[in-house]
Amino acid sequence: MFIKRLNLFFFLITILASLFLIYSWYSNYQFKNSPLNKNILEQINKKHKTLEKLSYIKFNIKRKFPVIVSDKMPSKLFGAATYSKNGEIEIYLNKKHFQESLDYMINDVLPHEYAHALVFLDRDFKDRKDGHTQKWQNICKALEGLRCDRFVNHNDIIIGKTIFFK
Ligand SMILES: [Zn+2]
Repeated sequence: MFIKRLNLFFFLITILASLFLIYSWYSNYQFKNSPLNKNILEQINKKHKTLEKLSYIKFNIKRKFPVIVSDKMPSKLFGAATYSKNGEIEIYLNKKHFQESLDYMINDVLPHEYAHALVFLDRDFKDRKDGHTQKWQNICKALEGLRCDRFVNHNDIIIGKTIFFK
């Protein structure tokens, strides 16, 4: 009797675990194959507007930069700022990371990349390899970025090269 109950117990656990697995596969699949939901897009938009306001108030910069959510970026890159050959400046956010790291993407990555965009405006490309200069850090902090760490190990600025995650 006891063994039978134990069997039933494990049988149910297995069923539940399988259902959970199927559910999480399904929700990952859904997330990957549909655009970001309205609520997330609104949050990005709101932060984008705040950053435009701050760059006007603190640096008198009126220029607006497009913020593009991309699903073609490599996973290790959360965001990027690009400066194309014809002087276009764009900010990219990696769609893949909005599912687990929504808050981080909006309050950390977006101001970080926005600060790179503002540095691009001065066409100051002395530090081509590392965009995390003192100047960048000051701007990032002024934009109320949460982590304006100069010693990050990723290379998230792309200057003059073809942008492959458009
Ligand atoms: Zn950076």
